[in-house]
This record gives sequence, C-alpha cells and structure tokens, in this order.
Amino acid sequence: MLRFNDIADRVIDYSPNADFELIQRAYVFSAKVHEGQERLSGEPYLVHPLEVAGILSDLRMDDVSIASALLHDTLEDTLTTRDEIERLFGDKVAFIVEGLTKIARIQFSSAHEHQAENFRKMLVAMSKDIRILLIKLADRLHNMRTLEHIGAESRQRIAQETLDIYVPLSHRLGIRWMMQELEDCAFRVLNPRESEEIERQLTGGREERERYVEEVIGVISSALSRVGMDTEVKGRLKEIASIYHKMEMQNLALDQIYDVIAFRVVIDGTAEDCYAALGLVHSTWRPVPSRFKDYIGNPKPNGYRSLHTTVIGPYGERMEVQIRTREMDEDAEYGIAAHWKYKSGQPENPQDENRFSWLRQLLEWQRDMADPHEFLDTVKMDLFPDEVFVFTPRGEVINLPRRASTVDFAYAIHSEVGDRCAGARVNGKMVPLRHVLVDGDTVEVITNDHQFPRKDWLEFVVSGKARSRVRHSIQASERQRAIQLGRDSVSREFRKAGLSLSNLTNSGEMETLARSEAKGGAIDDLFAAVSYGKLSPSLLVRKLKGEEPPPRSEEVQEPLQDKILGLFKKRPSREPDAQNGVLVGGMSDVMVRFGGCCDPLPGDDVVGFVTRGRGVTVHGRNCRRVFEVDPARRVDVEWDTRHSVPRKVKVQVDSQNRPGILSKVVNSISAAGINVAGLKVTTDDEQGRASQAFELWVGDTRTLSAVMKEIGRIKGVTTVSRVRG
Ligand code: MN
Repeated sequence: MLRFNDIADRVIDYSPNADFELIQRAYVFSAKVHEGQERLSGEPYLVHPLEVAGILSDLRMDDVSIASALLHDTLEDTLTTRDEIERLFGDKVAFIVEGLTKIARIQFSSAHEHQAENFRKMLVAMSKDIRILLIKLADRLHNMRTLEHIGAESRQRIAQETLDIYVPLSHRLGIRWMMQELEDCAFRVLNPRESEEIERQLTGGREERERYVEEVIGVISSALSRVGMDTEVKGRLKEIASIYHKMEMQNLALDQIYDVIAFRVVIDGTAEDCYAALGLVHSTWRPVPSRFKDYIGNPKPNGYRSLHTTVIGPYGERMEVQIRTREMDEDAEYGIAAHWKYKSGQPENPQDENRFSWLRQLLEWQRDMADPHEFLDTVKMDLFPDEVFVFTPRGEVINLPRRASTVDFAYAIHSEVGDRCAGARVNGKMVPLRHVLVDGDTVEVITNDHQFPRKDWLEFVVSGKARSRVRHSIQASERQRAIQLGRDSVSREFRKAGLSLSNLTNSGEMETLARSEAKGGAIDDLFAAVSYGKLSPSLLVRKLKGEEPPPRSEEVQEPLQDKILGLFKKRPSREPDAQNGVLVGGMSDVMVRFGGCCDPLPGDDVVGFVTRGRGVTVHGRNCRRVFEVDPARRVDVEWDTRHSVPRKVKVQVDSQNRPGILSKVVNSISAAGINVAGLKVTTDDEQGRASQAFELWVGDTRTLSAVMKEIGRIKGVTTVSRVRG
C-alpha cells in the first residue's frame, strides 16, 4: 500500500518549495473523516485518496493539487462541509474539491437526454481550473485499476464511460501513459475474451520476445553511440488494447511477436539529433515507404512531438521505432501537467496554451448553441482528432480532422474566410468545395463577398468549428426570413384594424408588447413568433386595442398549444381515428409528418418542428436536420403509447446466396407479427451474395431490433441494417 510519506517525499523531491504542512494536514484530516469507511475491496477507504494523490505526484503536480486529491471525496462521502475545507485549507482547495464533488454526482450513462447536458456541466466545471480535470482523471484511473471489486453491470458502464469520455480527454491533454492505461483497463472489461486470448499468446512467446528486444536495442544503441549520441533505447510491450486494434485493423493473427513491441529512442539532445538518429536507423534497416511520420515538424494537436517510422527489421519483420528528445518524451508523458503554472492558473508555454485553449474554445461554442445535443455532437467530432496535416500557400501547417474538406480548411484559417469561401485550389488545381484533403496538400482558399454558408456544406464539413459556424449562420438566416414574414403579416393585420406598425414602433408600444408577449422580449422575437405560428397577429391587435377579453387561463400559459390546435388541426373530413401515433405538446390531433431523412420509429428519441402550413415535422433526436433549424421552431413531441401506429421502415439484409435463406428471413419477420410492405431481392452470382431490401410495417424500435437480431442469427446472413432516408 502506498504510504503518505512516500508521496510527501516525492513532492518535496520535485518541488522543494511545496507547502509540506498543507498536504500533511490534508492527509490527517482525510484519515480522520474517512475513518471506519471501507472500499468494496475491503481495504480502508483512505487507500483511494492516497493512491489518487500518488498518481498526481507521478504527474509532478503542485501542493494544492495533492491536498485536494487527498480530500477529493470528503464532501461527497463524509459529513465535511465546504466551509470547513475552506477554513482549514484555503479557498483554492475548497474550490477544487467542490468542483470535483459536482462532477462526481454526474451520471453519464443515465437517460440519454441528460448525458449531453452533463458533459457540458463537467467541462464547464473543469475549465475553471485545469487541476480539477487532472484530479478527476487520476480518480478515474485508480477506480479503473480496482474495477474488479465492482458488480459486473456497473463495471461495464464505468468502462464504457471511461472509453467515451476520459480516454479522449486524457488524449487531448496529451498525457499519453494515462490515456493508454485508461484505454487498456476499459478494453479488458469490455472485451474479456479477446484480452484473455491475447494475454495467453503473449505469455507463450515471452523468452523469444525478450531475446529479440535485447538484440534490436543492442544494434540501435551501438549505432548511435558510435556517432557520439547519448541515448536510451527502450523496447516496450504494447498495451493489450492497442495490440488488439492493430490485429483488427490489419486483419492479422497474433503469430508475429514483432507486432507487439514498440521501440523508442530517447535522445539527450536536440531535434536535429532526432533526424540524425532517424537517418542512422534508416541506414541500418530499410524503411517502409509512407510509414514515416514527422510529429516534430508537425506536432499533433495535443502537442505530441516525436518521429515515427516503420522499418524492415532483422528478421524481415515490420518494426516500429519512435525517436524523440528527452524533453519531448517528458512532454508526451506528462502532457499539460508538464509545464503548468498553477499559481497563475496559466500554462507556461504556448504549446500548453493550445491544449487548454481547446477546452476554452469548446465552452465558447457552447454559448452559441441553445441545444446541449448540438454541443455534444460538436464535441464528439473534436474529441477524436484523427487528423490530417495540410499547408497554407505560405507553408504554415493546419491540423484538421480526417476527411476534412476545403471548407473546413477555410474555417480553420478564419471564420470570415470560411463564411466567404467560394472555391479552392489544392496543390494548384481548382477543386470543388467538398473536396477531401489529404496529408501534405497545399490549400489556397478563394473567397467571394457574395458567398454565404450553405446548408449542403453540412453534408461534408467535419470540424467542430466549421459545423458550428455553418449551422449558426443557417439558423440566423432562417430567423431573418421568419422575422421578415412575421413583420409582413403583422403589418397587414394592423392595417386592416386601422393601426400603423411604424407609428406603434416609434411610440414604443411595440416594444412594450414584445416584452410582454414574446419569449426573448425583442420586437424581432415577436415577429419570429408570429411567423412560426406561436402568436397570432389578431391577438396582438386585440391586445393593443385593449379589447381583449380575459382568455382562459391555460391559453395564456400555452399560446403555442392553442395556436397549433387552431392552425394544424386535421380536417374533420378525414377519418376521425386516423391517429399518427405522436403527441405534440401532449395532444394527439395535430397534423404530423415524419422526416424522410431519419424515419423515426416509436421508441426512438424524437423532436418536432413547426413548419409553416404543414403542421409539425418529427425527426429523430440525432438527425442532422435537427441541428440545422432555428431552435425557436422546436416543439416537444413524444410517442403516443396508447395509440401506437405502425410505421414503414427499410431494412437491408445481406447474405450468402443460398437456397432457403429468403424464406427463413420472411418467416422470422412474420413470426414477429410484422407485415411486409415491399421487398426487392438482388443477387450477385459471381460473388455468391444476395441482398434483400425490405419495407416493413413496424410498431416500435423494440420489435424492430428483436426481429433484426433474429434475422442476424440465420445461417448465411452477413449483415442486417436499418436504412434511413
Ligand atoms: Mn474518488
């Protein structure tokens, strides 16, 4: 067990001026209040805060961080109050511990709609002091290390959450070892069979592997020392998770011991020495073309610098070698923790500013986004930065997410350049805007003042910045149109009633009216509300003339419902029981259409939009369209569980082309009580494959996924998927 003295020694060692007394008092206090508590493993609870503090001392964090780590669970799990912590340990420690406590209460895998908002809350809390984030990561890491004591179900949930949120966060902050360990722990929980299998095979080849590592290290070291370079060469067994990904990606069996080792050359010297060392490695073993990556010239967005190459090793095997300076190596290990100036709360060098500014940037975008789901959608894009490097005509490097287009590039240069982007030249050749960039492209953007962001750009832009700007500007122009339409109809109605819109505006009466009637309170909000059918011009006239009889109270509270009822109620000539299975604002008789883009089914998470004259359109919660329309048009919709109405969905079944498969598939469908609306079968005799495109009448998602699972089990069926749009 890690003892407090070990941690204290370590802290004093790397930070001689640290407030030793502060961390000691924090330790004593934590021991006292956690007294008698146990972890699920049966160990005393205190082990956990000690281990977390230990991880932070590995990151060489400051005294305030270590003290906060020792106290991090006291607010949550003991009777301690914030005031007490502030009195005893100062406001910084209290602020951090409180921030951590708030995050601890967040459950990510609870209901889906809460997740996005929770994630946003967490980032907001963390962005106030980077130490909150680092302590949270250390806390999670220790919990992952001791996950075996937790029940199987929560274990799965915690591992998945780690993979979804904490692995990308630690990657973004550039703390490599932490990211790798978190990912590995999560992988072992989520893929136990694969992990065991790899583990078993690794034990088998141990001796052979050790001999191999020693041989390669010997060759590299002596080559480098011959030219007088001071180096440390390491041969490291890769993590189970990365071995697995590699096998999966290259479709390899694990029979090559070489696949599991990564060599690293750490040089006590300069960047130039790294290139020199690379030259020596390449002259010893033949490099594999196109596998060389220069992250020194082009650091990764998280600040990672190193040279990577793959060579044909002594036994004709592919061998990976990373080369970097001591300083780069430490940066890669400690990431943002390496140079953080905790006193000022500021990073020490610009590279760390980059790491942290990513977080700040996110929070800036979120201010523009009314919807937490849109925020999450944007963040997800940016958390997994599988990037490409491209160049400006002046040779500056721009990092973009993989599959980025010229429009993403334009937005990366400047928002204005993106908004006005009319075309681009890539490597001197004109290309369409949706052209996908690859590593090394030189891109020149052509702007035009008459150009504006267009809706179809959303089909191909991938960077968070571009997506959020384009959506924003589409929403803004949609709103402008709505305001114009609303103004026209108000003005018309006023004229009929003998009122003048411009006089009422000048006299300030419109302003007063807007404040009382429109959400948002501005005159433009009032016009927009009229345009979306949320307010009627005649109601405004009555208000202005003061002749409005007191309406029924629920009408005042729910002008939207009232309005929708009036505008979109189905014509009585239609069959009275032609329900559509959707409740808008709790009502079932509103005219509803479904988005053809996402074909939502009962059970899917849905949102609705008011459409002029066409009722309410319902889309799946994650449909791209949802992010493109003015949030002011959104209305709450839910599935009417009492009157579920089957909807048509498309399902694609791919299989081997053998007799009897189709009838088996159709049998499973009819056994589930589902009607077939259409079927198209195509066969490819040469490949021996068949594909069946079904149209089915299905009542809800649960029935659909059950039958899809059933079909998937039929021998010869390769894939079953739901087709949208
Ligand atoms: Mn904890």
